[in-house]
Amino acid sequence: MPLGYLFELILPLAVCAIGVSYLLSMYLYIRSFWAPQHALSLGGNTGNPLYDFFIGRELNPRIGNFDLKYFCELRPGLIGWVVINLGMLMKEVELRGSPSLAMLLVNGFQLLYVTDALWNEEAVLTTMDIVHDGFGFMLAFGDLAWVPFTYGLQAMFLVVHPQSLSTLGATGIILLNGIGYYIFRKSNSQKNQFRRDPTHKSVAHLETIATATGKRLLVSGWWGFVRHPNYLGDLLMALAWSLPCGMSHILPYFYVIYFTILLIHREARDEKQCRAKYGLAWDTYCRRVPYRIFPYIY
Ligand code: NDP
Repeated sequence: MPLGYLFELILPLAVCAIGVSYLLSMYLYIRSFWAPQHALSLGGNTGNPLYDFFIGRELNPRIGNFDLKYFCELRPGLIGWVVINLGMLMKEVELRGSPSLAMLLVNGFQLLYVTDALWNEEAVLTTMDIVHDGFGFMLAFGDLAWVPFTYGLQAMFLVVHPQSLSTLGATGIILLNGIGYYIFRKSNSQKNQFRRDPTHKSVAHLETIATATGKRLLVSGWWGFVRHPNYLGDLLMALAWSLPCGMSHILPYFYVIYFTILLIHREARDEKQCRAKYGLAWDTYCRRVPYRIFPYIY
């Protein structure tokens, strides 16, 4: 397929994706008034129509068995993102004859990230987006427009600003992405396994503390290192995706800057929810594991 055309079509496609996310959010907002009380999210029912439209009133809206939020969280946006990246790679081939090392790294790293997310798709069921947040404009726009069109900025940048990358530089960047991926995958899998089956042999040896809800909290292993090791790994990868684009422009660093702000804010939101859920046990956890994301820094 002549995917290189995506380079010229990126703006109209982005406008369409924004339009679709507005239409979907309006549909979700309107249908939520027919949803039963138990199907509504806690945070998205303040009575302020603008706020509720943004955050989302209904928790997991479905058409028959088709779960709209579960579908949108991973499929269209993430797959769209790697297709756009591939389009940029093909545009580079059209312009310069072969893909650059920087373009191959950006495509390879992000393809790994997306493949991992789809391979471990069921893990999304324990994330805040699915469990706590309603499905409204924030997630619809994020999933359908924001992710594919802003997460692909590095590849778009490389089409217009080719970069030469030394073997040593590329090795360092691959190493950084590898370390980030390892921390991200191991910590997410450890928590998912623990939540699914705390007696499983891979997690049974870990130290935990009891909470009043009956659920336990991990205080050793990855979750005893910092309180959000998965965010740390994700941020290391985000940096590795920007570095192949060189240091001449801030645009390819947009993702890592935005993502740091998003994850610091997300961590604070999660912290608030966990404190409300687990009370004193959460305070004990925070004393045992004092750093939130970056060891000895934050
Ligand atoms: P997390 O997977 O970090 O889940 C947080 C929940 O884990 C808490 O609410 C709590 O829920 C449980 N938990 C916290 N501490 C412990 C502990 N010590 N022991 C056991 N359970 C604990 O939430 P996210 O949805 O924020 O992140 C999931 C992944 O998605 C991350 O890797 C993140 O980086 C990534 N992500 C990527 C984004 C992107 O745009 N690329 C955007 C957002 C997230 P409970 O106790 O109820 O189980």
